[in-house]
Amino acid sequence: MKVLRARHIFDGARWISPGELSWDEGGAILAVRRAPRGARIRDLAILPGLVNAHAHLQLDAVGEAPSTFVDWIGQVMAARGRTQPSTLVASAVRSLRELLDDGCTAVGEIDSSGLSKKALLRVPFAGRCYQEVTGFHLDAATSKALVAARRQDGTAACLGGMSPHAPYSVSAALFRACQSTRQPLSVHAAELPEEQQFLREGTGPFRELLERLGRLPAGFCAPKVGAIRWLEQLGLLRPTTLLVHCQELERGDAARIAAAGAPIVVCPGTMRYFGRRPPPVPEWLRRGIPVALGTDSRASNESMSMRSELARAAAMWPSLRPQELFAMATTHGGLALRRKGLGLLRKGLRADFFAVHGSEESTEAILAEFVHGSRAPVATWLAGHMHRCRAKVGSDG
Ligand SMILES: [Zn+2]
Repeated sequence: MKVLRARHIFDGARWISPGELSWDEGGAILAVRRAPRGARIRDLAILPGLVNAHAHLQLDAVGEAPSTFVDWIGQVMAARGRTQPSTLVASAVRSLRELLDDGCTAVGEIDSSGLSKKALLRVPFAGRCYQEVTGFHLDAATSKALVAARRQDGTAACLGGMSPHAPYSVSAALFRACQSTRQPLSVHAAELPEEQQFLREGTGPFRELLERLGRLPAGFCAPKVGAIRWLEQLGLLRPTTLLVHCQELERGDAARIAAAGAPIVVCPGTMRYFGRRPPPVPEWLRRGIPVALGTDSRASNESMSMRSELARAAAMWPSLRPQELFAMATTHGGLALRRKGLGLLRKGLRADFFAVHGSEESTEAILAEFVHGSRAPVATWLAGHMHRCRAKVGSDG
């Protein structure tokens, strides 16, 4: 058994000061409780591991943002096509270690090659690994075959899911084939004005791209509704479908998403990279939508750090309280990935947590400094194993 006694422990809902966290050799939490009187207490605050609800761990940087999104997608696809499988796995491992350095222990990975599982076995993050598929030209039979070939169960800690990429790159039949797996889904949705234009009118850069790729089916008819209503018509707007970005919601979409119970993930680093305006996250939260945070990939973000993402979110939505921001980076991520225990420290759950320095300050001050980026983790524990130690921290038992 391992024991850590700290000045403060946040279990995901309340603070215990001073607190004691114990876990077994398998990494399962045995107890989170008040530390016994007279015990030696470390000047630390323990918090649940952060949840990165949207990442592409294998992707590498492509440099400055090209002038259009379609050009950017072209660069990302070309770079991926040139990369050896072993390099993709190595990139994913590097991304996971970088995330771990800043307190993150769970991920919603978008796996475009089927290789992320290898990285997740080496650095055993919790969360969900979604297999990404595209094919705007695919009919029912070819969609079923593609999904059957790509479907995976994930690892013990990071379960399987499907990611039909986006409404401009996935046919109705392919969306339905992903849905028929009954695994949770992650979809890039309502990300761009050009996406809405293509779905509403069947015109614009995405039409041209699909024509160039030979992927626009003969006799194609646009759905004539925006992305969220299109997903609703396909039967995909539900709690098990994670909506990524939602930059360009149309009137009534937020109410539709809230009524359906679908979660949203926003990626502040990607907004900054493309110079996008932050969407109304405080309003979405007021509607009861679980809004989570993600790093997206190095192709549109300078680092893989959920602490940086939190600091950007705090600056983008200054009306949000530190507790709300921290929930976006933890428990909301758990809801988004359909992994309910994530972001909590409770008996029986996995010991995924991190520590920051904390002595006599108020817990409010500690949390506020953390979400604004000025207090870095000194160590992160993944399944009970300490993985990063910027200051000397040991175990009490
Ligand atoms: Zn993405």
